Amino acid sequence: MKPPPFRYAAPTTLPEATAMLAGSDGRALVLAGGQSLIPMLRHRLVGPDVLVDLRGIDALHRISFDGLRTLRLGAMVTHAALERWASAHDKALLTDAAAQIGHPSVRTMGTVVGSLAHGDPAAEWSAVALVLAGVCNITGPDGDREIGVDRLFTGPFSTSLAGPELITSLTVVLPGPRAGAAFSEVAPRPGDPAVAGAAAVITLDGQDVRSARVTLIGLAPTPCRAPTVEAALTGRPASVGVEAAAQAVEDDISPLGDIHGSEDYRRRVAPVVVTRALRSALARAGEGRS
Ligand SMILES: Cc1cc2nc3c(=O)[nH]c(=O)nc-3n(C[C@H](O)[C@H](O)[C@H](O)COP(=O)(O)OP(=O)(O)OC[C@H]3O[C@@H](n4cnc5c(N)ncnc54)[C@H](O)[C@@H]3O)c2cc1C
Repeated sequence: MKPPPFRYAAPTTLPEATAMLAGSDGRALVLAGGQSLIPMLRHRLVGPDVLVDLRGIDALHRISFDGLRTLRLGAMVTHAALERWASAHDKALLTDAAAQIGHPSVRTMGTVVGSLAHGDPAAEWSAVALVLAGVCNITGPDGDREIGVDRLFTGPFSTSLAGPELITSLTVVLPGPRAGAAFSEVAPRPGDPAVAGAAAVITLDGQDVRSARVTLIGLAPTPCRAPTVEAALTGRPASVGVEAAAQAVEDDISPLGDIHGSEDYRRRVAPVVVTRALRSALARAGEGRS
């Protein structure tokens, strides 16, 4: 199908973009990489009066790293740009996740922040942003605000962003020393959306797990943490109990079935993706890689 008619706006500054969104009476949509929005337009799932394209705003394409642990991604940083950065800096969790997203063409156009704003419960970056305690930097008619990624998702494909607001960047805190991090997912074929996925950051204290942070996608109406799994690991020796801790994920999930996987299938693969992510994170913690 063809999209319904709409106007196209190409601001070159953030104030211009926010003014356009604020002046649209809720009838404007932000266009980032278009990898989700254009198909939605074609299927007439949305019908905005105007698309506000962020591509011409240079500052939004920036990746800023403080050299220690804080990484800030402008709203137009693509999956491929982050994948290149992560591979150059040996950030294993980020390369794990980026490699699973669609195909090279999708990764070249689609953005990390657009993926969060889209609110897909199975999006890889949501698990990563949650496990790294991500914060969205937001601007709108009432000024700037920050919101933790843990408060962004409100339901499948639904977020707490108010109509004319836009996310300008995502800030994450990369794992520290003695930590290992990993992402694992199950998908029908390479490039297909994940049926279920898990991200884990494990910090060791000698041979014991000092802290564990585990997040899930495709296993609840929104991306979520796995507090029961985290509790089952924390304070225990790293060498034992990964499978038992992963089985505890049953208490952390409330999967919905869809064409990609039934509720029952998602329940069965949940411990599998958690086990893989935990094993890989623990191995990397031993090597000092995250
Ligand atoms: C064939 C194919 C395979 C794919 N496979 C995967 C996959 O495996 N995993 C995965 O996670 N994704 C997948 N995607 C989706 C892809 O990653 C998208 O790029 C992503 O979901 C949205 O990013 P975008 O930059 O394209 O956003 P757009 O499509 O431009 O926008 C998506 C939505 O977010 C809003 N939005 C975008 N940016 C902002 C912002 N800064 N502030 C506020 N609102 C904003 C838009 O208004 C729109 O509602 C796939 C897409 C295709 C076409």
